[in-house]
Amino acid sequence: MIDSTIYLVGIRKENGEYEKEANSCQLCKKMIINAGIKSVVVKADTDTGYRIVDVKDWIENDELLERKNNLLI
Ligand SMILES: [Zn+2]
Repeated sequence: MIDSTIYLVGIRKENGEYEKEANSCQLCKKMIINAGIKSVVVKADTDTGYRIVDVKDWIENDELLERKNNLLI
C-alpha cells in the first residue's frame, strides 16, 4: 500500500446526506499513516467535489503529539 490513495465519503445516518467536512478520525489517521498511504481523497463540498489530503501533513502536524507536548510544558 506504499504511496497508494484511499477514498473517503462521509454519509450522515440520520438523513443519508454527504458529510461536507468529512475527515478521518485519529485511529484511522494512524492506520493510514502506518499503511504508507500517500493521499486521501475526500468527497467534499468544493468546486471539484472532493479535496485531497496529503498524509505527510498528518505526520508533520500530529495533533496527538502537539497535545502531548503541551502537557509537558
Ligand atoms: Zn476512523
